[in-house]
Amino acid sequence: MELVYNVYFELSAGFFILFLLLFVRTRYDLTLERNKFFYHMICCLLAVDVLDVVTACTISYGAIVPKGLNVLVNTIYFALNGLLGYLYTNYCQQYNNNIYRRNRFIYMLSQVLLFGYWVLLLINTFTGLLFYFDQNGNYCHGILYLSVYIMPYIFFLMSACFMFMAFPQFNINQRVCIIMFLIVSASGGVLQLVWFPDVLLNVFTISLGITIVLFSLETPEYQQLKATMVELEEAKEQAQKENASKSQFLANMSHEIRTPINAILGMNEMILRESEENTIREYAQNIQSASDILLSIVNEILDFSKVASGKMELVPVEYEVASLIRDCSTIVETRAAGKDLRLEVSCDETTPSRLYGDETRIRQILSNLLTNAVKYTPSGTITFRIRWAGNKEGVNLIASVEDTGIGISEENQKRLFDTFERFDHEKNHNIEGTGLGLSITKQLVDLMQGEIGVYSELGKGSLFYVEIPQKVVSMKPIGKLDEASHIEQNKVEKEKYHAPEARILVVDDVRMNVKVIQSLLKRTRIQIDTATSGEECLALAKKNSYDVILLDHMMPQMDGVETFQKLRENTSGLNYGTPVIALTANAIEGAKEEYKALGFDDYLSKPMKGEELEDMIRRYLPEDKIVNE
Ligand code: ADP
Repeated sequence: MELVYNVYFELSAGFFILFLLLFVRTRYDLTLERNKFFYHMICCLLAVDVLDVVTACTISYGAIVPKGLNVLVNTIYFALNGLLGYLYTNYCQQYNNNIYRRNRFIYMLSQVLLFGYWVLLLINTFTGLLFYFDQNGNYCHGILYLSVYIMPYIFFLMSACFMFMAFPQFNINQRVCIIMFLIVSASGGVLQLVWFPDVLLNVFTISLGITIVLFSLETPEYQQLKATMVELEEAKEQAQKENASKSQFLANMSHEIRTPINAILGMNEMILRESEENTIREYAQNIQSASDILLSIVNEILDFSKVASGKMELVPVEYEVASLIRDCSTIVETRAAGKDLRLEVSCDETTPSRLYGDETRIRQILSNLLTNAVKYTPSGTITFRIRWAGNKEGVNLIASVEDTGIGISEENQKRLFDTFERFDHEKNHNIEGTGLGLSITKQLVDLMQGEIGVYSELGKGSLFYVEIPQKVVSMKPIGKLDEASHIEQNKVEKEKYHAPEARILVVDDVRMNVKVIQSLLKRTRIQIDTATSGEECLALAKKNSYDVILLDHMMPQMDGVETFQKLRENTSGLNYGTPVIALTANAIEGAKEEYKALGFDDYLSKPMKGEELEDMIRRYLPEDKIVNE
């Protein structure tokens, strides 16, 4: 007697699944949860396939096979079908989770479904609600027969939903494969149910579907790629976190370091002002130059961290080219003091006199090059040249700094603009520096879309040049640059003033800083009240009316910004309209615009120079309280 079902497809599927099983077993890392799931799914498919063929036989030979045995194998067959659906669902839902963790709710829901299905099968063995065998051993459908199919299809629908939900992480080819996988997997059941009830197709089509998944989503290369992507993502997050904490660390350090430098420079300035004794003044001068170097190193590190974290922004302003050149030359003069060096400045007289660009950063670029020239030239000449090219639409400011110093070998020139590169340590060990200057300079030039380069010969000297695009405000030529007269001019003491009637409030949690400000303003004879906390400031502001308030930003408990807001909230207070100047040692946050945006009238960055402080206060004092000397 022939079988009532055509089992050829399922028989061939059996061999095919065996091949899949071997493939996965040998090529997959089965210690991974995700791979284990895939492997178990294929094992279960093989078991379903075997039982599909076995049940086809027992049903066909129902007359001679004991009824109980027939019910048993069919029940196991359906139970395994349910298990396959369960594994299928859980496998698909893993695609919704990058780290392939199981979603607990889905996991439990599918467990409940599977368990319910198995209980139904168990009940069926006594009731025949799903299927039974009649007296002659014929296979008959019970009244709930469709449930045996519905349950696996619920699982299937869940799987399809998960696959669609995971769509965004796949490329277009993989998406097509997923759709094929779902259609092919389901097609066997549908074909068998609707058109070919006698042909067993289910396992055959599911194994085809799984093969599609295997070669589109599950190949080891894809898994590796996926794992690498996850690793990269994690590494990126980690790097971003570290970078943020590094910036924060630098901001804090800058505050910590600048605060004592402020005290040193301030107190030192008092010695320079008040001491009549030459030796003491000389000591003080040395303290000043050492502190200036320390400060420039701190600033370099801060700039470096700003550039590295992409926080460096250009602030273009209108500026006088002549004063830019003069200021830069003065820096060299001060640095070159005590060295056998001559500075020559030459400037093309036709250079436009007013330009528009980030003057502060251009000054930084030029002074970096000039300071290096001084540092690395024991004796000889430093030539600072300025030219230009372009027209009134836009010009290129071209500056070069040539020295007769130690020079740089050709090999070292290649690494000159890299971070932390310093050459000839033994020879240069007594020259201060971080190896950051040129790298920052290059990055600033790049930010301005300019160019920087070097010509140098070891032992003979170097020539650094920069070319920076700038907008033009006035094409009026700069004319002859009278350098000497400027230096004289610079030396002329600024006009002094007194303001004994004026009253200001200085707020800083560091007592030493308050003292520095008091000392620096001593000659102005301004009345100074002091506070060391936000609360104290508010209490004093309630009682007295001030002409200016100097308010430190970083203070414990109530910081400067909060104190400022409280001052301004009190609209009927004595100091509602009083100009408030923010004090900060934190150069990272030290942007003038930021403080202005917060409502402060101005800001001063520590360490402050006596003159800077006097000028700033003068700007905000009422005219009638100022007495010029
Ligand atoms: P540093 O803080 O060490 O001066 P820079 O980035 O400014 O760092 O310069 C990097 C290195 O390039 C220096 O340590 C020095 O060896 C070399 N260098 C820079 N400018 C000159 C120059 N004008 N002459 C000779 N060597 C120079």
